[in-house]
Amino acid sequence: MYKLLVLAGDGIGPEVMAEVEKVITWFDQKDGIAFDVSQDLVGGAAFDVHSTPLHDDTLERARHADAILLGAVGAPKYDNLDFSVKPERGLLRLRKELDLFANLRPAVCFDALADFSSLKREVVAGLDIMIVRELTSGVYFGEPRGIEDDGQGGRIGINTQRYTSEEIRRVARAAFVLAGKRGGKLCSMEKANVMESGVLWREEVQQIGDTEFPEIELSHMYADAGAMQLVREPRQFDVIVTDNLFGDLLSDAAAMLTGSLGMLPSASLGAMGEQGRPKALYEPVHGSAPDIAGQGQANPCAAILSFAMALRYSFDLADAAQRLESAVAKTLEDGLRTPDLLQNPGAHPATTCEVGDAVVARLEAAG
Ligand code: NAD
Repeated sequence: MYKLLVLAGDGIGPEVMAEVEKVITWFDQKDGIAFDVSQDLVGGAAFDVHSTPLHDDTLERARHADAILLGAVGAPKYDNLDFSVKPERGLLRLRKELDLFANLRPAVCFDALADFSSLKREVVAGLDIMIVRELTSGVYFGEPRGIEDDGQGGRIGINTQRYTSEEIRRVARAAFVLAGKRGGKLCSMEKANVMESGVLWREEVQQIGDTEFPEIELSHMYADAGAMQLVREPRQFDVIVTDNLFGDLLSDAAAMLTGSLGMLPSASLGAMGEQGRPKALYEPVHGSAPDIAGQGQANPCAAILSFAMALRYSFDLADAAQRLESAVAKTLEDGLRTPDLLQNPGAHPATTCEVGDAVVARLEAAG
C-alpha cells in the first residue's frame, strides 16, 4: 500500500489533480497497485483556513507520505500578503523541510506535438532527455549575499556560488542512478573554465563516476556550450546534471523544446528513506493559471505525467509509468486536446475532465 498525499492547492491545481485522482483510482482498482490517498491544503487554500500556506500538521503528513503530489499554488488575491505567508512559501517550505535536493525535469517530445516546438520537427521528434538540477544550494542560497553601499556613492550586489563536496556528490549519485535506469549516459555541466566551484563540481562528479558508477558513460560540458548543444542537437543527451543556477536556465530552455507548459511534469527528490524510497514531491511545472481557472480549460497532462514520474521514481513501477505515458500520447494523437494544444482555430477543444477520462479510457483499452 503506497501512501500518497495530494496537495491540490490553488487555481487550476484542484482541476488537474481531480484528473490525476481518476488515474490513481484506475491503477488501484484495475491494475492491483494499492494506493492510500489522502488530501490536504497548501498555498492560498491553506492560508484561507489556517492563516499559513503550510500548516505544521500538513508538513508532518508530508514527512510520512511515500510521495506527495502537488497541483499548483498562488492567486492574485494573495499578491498583497506579507512575503512570509504568500502561497509560494508553502511550496518552498515543503522543499526545504524535506531537503529535496534533486529536481528532475524531463523534456520529452510527444510525436503528436512535435510541430509545437520552436525547433524543426526533425531536430526534436523522439526527444527524451532528463535534466537533474541541484535545488537546495549554490548561488541562490550562498552567503554572503545582499546589496551594499560601496562607500563611493554607488552600490554592490552580492551573491555567492558555494557548493560542498557532499552537496555535489549526492545530486551526482541521484543523476547516475537515473542514467542507469535510462540510456546509461550522463553529461555534467558547469563552468570549470572560469569558476572554482565548477572545478570542484567536475572533480567530484568524475570521482563518483569512476568509483561508484563505472558502467555509466560520463561526459562533461561547459554550461554555455551545453545550452548551445541543447538547441542544436538535443537528442545527443540522455541525463544532464548541473547546479542550481545553470539548471534553472537549462531546464526551462529544454522544456520549451517540447511545446506547451501544460505538458511538463517534474519531480523533486531527497535522501533515500528506510524503505529504499526517496523523499519525493511531484508537481507540474506550470503555476495556478488564474486566467483560466474554473473554466475546464486546464491541460491535466503535466499533472498526470508527474504521477507517471512517481510510479517510476518512487515505486519502481516502470511498466505502469510507461503505460500511463503511452495513454497520454494516444490521447493527444486521437486529437483530445485542451485549448493550449490546438493550432487550428477551427478545432474543437476538449475539457480538462474529457482529457482525464480519455487517458483512463486508453489505459483501460491497453489492458
Ligand atoms: P502559470 O504557469 O500559472 O501560467 C502561465 C500561462 O500558461 C497562463 O496563460 C496559463 O493559462 C497557461 N497555463 C499554465 N498551465 C496551464 C495548463 N495546465 N493548461 C493550459 N494552460 C496553462 O504562470 P503565471 O501566470 O506566471 O503564475 C500564476 C500564479 O501561479 C502565480 O501566483 C505564481 O506565483 C504561481 N506559480 C506557481 C507555481 C507552482 O505552484 N509551482 C509555478 C509557477 C507560478
